[in-house]
Parts: sequence; C-alpha cells; structure tokens
Amino acid sequence: MKPVCSVVVPMYNEEEVIMETYRRLTHVLESGGFEYEIVFINDGSSDKTGQLIREICDSDKRVKLIDFSRNFGHQIAITAGMDYSSGECIVVIDGDLQDPPELIPEMVKKWREGYDVVYGKRISRKGESIFKRATAAFFYRFLRSMTDVNIPVDTGDFRLIDARVRDALKLVNERNRYIRGLVSWLGFKQTAIEFERDERFAGETKYPLKKMIKLAADGITSFSYKPLKLASYLGTVLSIGSFLYLIYVLAQRIFFPETVQPGWASILAVSLFFNGITLLILGIIGEYIGRIYDEAKGRPLYIIRETKNLSDNKQPLTRE
Ligand code: UDP
Ligand code: MG
Repeated sequence: MKPVCSVVVPMYNEEEVIMETYRRLTHVLESGGFEYEIVFINDGSSDKTGQLIREICDSDKRVKLIDFSRNFGHQIAITAGMDYSSGECIVVIDGDLQDPPELIPEMVKKWREGYDVVYGKRISRKGESIFKRATAAFFYRFLRSMTDVNIPVDTGDFRLIDARVRDALKLVNERNRYIRGLVSWLGFKQTAIEFERDERFAGETKYPLKKMIKLAADGITSFSYKPLKLASYLGTVLSIGSFLYLIYVLAQRIFFPETVQPGWASILAVSLFFNGITLLILGIIGEYIGRIYDEAKGRPLYIIRETKNLSDNKQPLTRE
C-alpha cells in the first residue's frame, strides 16, 4: 500500500546517531496514525552506517535503503531520497536529530489543510558555534539580497513537500543543487512552522567550512547573476576613475614636469590593487563557467550501488 508520508534521511558517517534516529522517528511516526516509510540514503559512509541501515531494513520493511556508490553530498542524497519516495507527501529531515522528528505530524497536518510545502524555520540554534550561527545568519540574508527568488531566511532542508512538488523538482536537473532555493523557485502553496534547532545527538558536523562555502556558492550562482553584474559595475567605475586620473597625471607631466616624483610606491600600489580586482572578477566568472561545464557534461546526478526494500526494483539506478 502506498504510504501517506515518506521520510527522507540522508546519512553520512552517522553510525553514532542512526539507531537513535530510527528509534525516535519510528516512535513519532507510529503515533502519527498514518502509513509511512523511512528512506535512508547512505551517502558513501566509510563507517558502519550502511551496515546498520541494512540491519534495520531486515527487521522493518517500512525502512528503505538507497546506498550510493560514493559520497555525492547532502543535496544529492536528498534528491535521490525524494526520487525514490512513494508517499503522497515527503518529509526531508537531517539524520543527526537536529531537526526534531516530533514536528512531522504537525507538518502532515498543515499539508492536509492544503499546503504543498511546509518548511521548518529555525528560531534558535542550540549547540552550534557562534561562527556557524553568524555565518549562517549572514548567508541567508546575503542570498536574499542577491536574488529575486523569495527564499525564506533561516530555513534548511527540513520540510514537507507534496508528491506533486517532488515531481516538479524532478524536472529540475541542475547538478550543483541548492534544494531549498529550488523549492522556493517552484512556487506552490508554502507555509512555515517555527522550531528550535537542537544540538547534534552525537558525532560531528559533516559540513566543514569547505562544504559550507560550496553550498553557499551554489545557492548564489544558481539564483543570481548579480555577482557578474557587480563585476561589470566595478569594472566600469574603476575604468572611468582610472581614465580621469590618467588625464590628471598627463596634465601634471606636461604642464609641471618639475613636480613629478619618482613614485614607485604609487605605481606598485595601483598595479597590485588592479591585479587583485582582475583576479577576483576572473574568479567570479570562473565560478559560473565551472557550473556551465558541470551542466554541459550532463553526468548523472548520482550512482546507486544497492537498494533495499524498495517496492519497484526495476527503477533505474540513477537519474539523468
Ligand atoms: N550529509 C550527507 N552527505 C554529506 C554531508 C552530510 O548525507 O556529504 C548528511 C548528514 O549525515 C546529516 C545531514 O546531511 O544527516 C546534515 O549534515 P550535518 O548535520 O553534518 O550538517 P550541519 O547540521 O552541521 O549543518
Ligand atoms: Mg546537523
């Protein structure tokens, strides 16, 4: 029978939390009074995560496993989980219990009231470093100022979407995905539920600074040309400024040749400044070109090594 709700949980090296996550999810979902399934994605973990999920799958047929051939990243893991969900609605939740599973029945209730997307908005974040909180708060606001898409602030991927929204999302084949932005871009009837983000149950964050920067760059470049526009504005302003200064310098040289100083410091300063700006702008252009390159290659988004308990085994192992 088709479940009402599929719960998608990406897992990357979460051996310390997975049993507790399974226990709490099951507890909440069983008391929810609706049919459900849990779709775990093992995102190329190098610890016992995959083995533990397999054991859970053997004892509980409502739990499904999608085992990636390697680590493809959080956003891709969520995508695969959604692709293979068979529920009428789909909830995406982090595997580390930072998003409280207890909110799921509330989300389902909102969905039954007619909303297509119910996203969790963090009103506070516990147990995260000041650095993480500050960068996250800054990023969500910066992204908002950069794009025309109405992406809600302080909102992660913890959300419920209707199966129709998932079907629409399947049409979006972008490689460097920023899913929360894509869901906003799709439209539909959306609403928020506020919650307090808990501490990680155990283990460490799987989002080191490098991955955070990558996600932020994906968010900005997927939804905005503004960095390119800013680059050309900056270029224009600097060119005009340089031209005016050039006239001044030439006038000095022609009319007051005796005032011209050796000036190696100023030449070096100008040259360093302009080279810095040029490299910065090239870098910005490079970010976009790299992404065009990824799209042009058209590789599949993910490769699945194995699945467990999925009803339709004839499903392709990947997605175009
Ligand atoms: N995750 C994943 N693949 C990755 C990195 C993270 O599937 O490459 C999963 C991770 O197991 C967790 C969720 O994504 O369930 C969120 O990651 P994490 O809690 O480390 O991020 P944070 O909450 O620190 O931002
Ligand atoms: Mg976390």
